[in-house]
Amino acid sequence: MEMPQVSVCQVDECAYNQDSACHALAITVGDSAHAHCDTYFVFPSKGGDSSSVGRVGACKMAGCLHNVGLECQAPGITVAALGASADCLTFTAR
Ligand code: SF4
Repeated sequence: MEMPQVSVCQVDECAYNQDSACHALAITVGDSAHAHCDTYFVFPSKGGDSSSVGRVGACKMAGCLHNVGLECQAPGITVAALGASADCLTFTAR
């Protein structure tokens, strides 16, 4: 299994975000109830690996069409701010 890329993340205020791209090596999505980015956090400096594109290391949304054995198998995901959280817009209920 390949870890899917975070193709786009529009949550600029996240510490892992630079130029609308995620640079966390492996994010976690979901708390089993909501498909939000669980790795999102705000910090005074930027982190992650700026030479790498973020990938989805784990996804707890068992009810998503793209979820196989609690791993994301979408070709790529899009994350954007919805209210106070960073939501995975690729989530598709089965
Ligand atoms: S996908 Fe998550 S960890 Fe990566 S930049 Fe967006 S909010 Fe931050």
